[in-house]
Amino acid sequence: MRLTCPLCGARDHREFSYKGAAVQRPDEGADLEAWHAYVNLRENPAGPLQELWYHQMGCGAWLKVTRDTVTHEISNVELASEAGLGGAA
Ligand SMILES: [Zn+2]
Repeated sequence: MRLTCPLCGARDHREFSYKGAAVQRPDEGADLEAWHAYVNLRENPAGPLQELWYHQMGCGAWLKVTRDTVTHEISNVELASEAGLGGAA
């Protein structure tokens, strides 16, 4: 599988670290239920899923990747910061 980093171009997936589903962090004042969902609840679809990947052996960018969990087809890659997921550490 190859991922196309917006900054580096197409690279082997082994340059990247998978960091789980791309989930929007709740605001600081969010209620307990929102935090519970953020920390513990994940979808497990057989199909497209938005994921967070880190270009560990490249530029260090955090990426939001849309990958089909059945076929592994990558349909979209964008910088997490531009996808509203900035601040991932
Ligand atoms: Zn990169």
